[in-house]
Amino acid sequence: MKRWLGFGLLGLLLLTAGGWFARERIALGLYQRGAERAMTANSLESLPDGLHAAFCGTGSPLPDPDRAGPCLAVIAGKRLIIVDAGEGAARNLALMGLPAAGIERVLLTHFHSDHIDGLGALGLQRWVQANAVQPLILQGPVGVGDVAAGFNSAYRIDSGYRTAHHGVSVAPPSGFGFSPRAFALADGPGVILNEGGLKITAVAVDHAPAEPAVAYRFDYKGRCITVSGDTAQSAALEALAEECDLLVHEALQPRLTRMLGTAAGRAGNAGLAKIMVDIEDYHTAPELAAESAAKARVKALALTHIVPPLRLAGLESAFLGDAHMRFDGELWIAADRELVSLPAGGGMTRSMLGGTR
Ligand SMILES: [Zn+2]
Ligand SMILES: [Zn+2]
Repeated sequence: MKRWLGFGLLGLLLLTAGGWFARERIALGLYQRGAERAMTANSLESLPDGLHAAFCGTGSPLPDPDRAGPCLAVIAGKRLIIVDAGEGAARNLALMGLPAAGIERVLLTHFHSDHIDGLGALGLQRWVQANAVQPLILQGPVGVGDVAAGFNSAYRIDSGYRTAHHGVSVAPPSGFGFSPRAFALADGPGVILNEGGLKITAVAVDHAPAEPAVAYRFDYKGRCITVSGDTAQSAALEALAEECDLLVHEALQPRLTRMLGTAAGRAGNAGLAKIMVDIEDYHTAPELAAESAAKARVKALALTHIVPPLRLAGLESAFLGDAHMRFDGELWIAADRELVSLPAGGGMTRSMLGGTR
């Protein structure tokens, strides 16, 4: 009996060990296939001709494990243009199969830290992946030169290591960093790029004391996307977005941020309590973003730059309030790695790019 028990235990042990070996073999096989896919992944190739919005960050400075800092990739045909690069933007782009090597330029809406704190990683990825011989274009209102110079300075020592380690063919010194392209703001909207069928128009919005702050409109093959940047409800934005297919608008729900402010005050953190009140006046409540979408007669409204983070099921409807009553078109809270496609021939589809791991 004892001997059988011994064999039984040994068998169980061998079976378990065999199971673990099999698991490892399967995992390694999958990893091998995944590595090949990851090295060649390029979502751009499978997109139809048209205009697309890929959300590479829908969060804000408040910590949110599900949302990177503000970032939107606008794809016109095969051209990849990034609007703002908050923390985590480069990682999301990679997960979405949008290789940094393909980035044509980065546009900044304004210079708040949460819109630029992912630039360092993004610039480095693009330089090394593309073996770029020209710096990445960083376009924005006046002030963008200071931002470019700052990142170039902060990453210069690192860039020397990269070239020394991987060679000039992988990391050519001439392609390191950002090349700033500042535009002056006119009284009304101004066209900042018009080539290859893509037109980008900028207009000043209301994000005081953060000035300048701009919104961008992209027109390509009869399709249109307008990106609000950070702003209080803005008539200039509504005019810019007129009859666009998609308005990507920032959103902050004061009902929720006030609860955070009150809690901070009760906890003795008067500074944080004040910040939670201050931020109300230069952002837009979802209900007001919906009103703007209706005034601009856009077809769809995607909310982004979500403040505060929505960590509980059920909070999404509290966040939206009665926004759905104020706008007839499609309205939703955008998610990281979501893709909105506007094919040149018409229509709109929403999907997710990349897996969750
Ligand atoms: Zn801002
Ligand atoms: Zn912001």
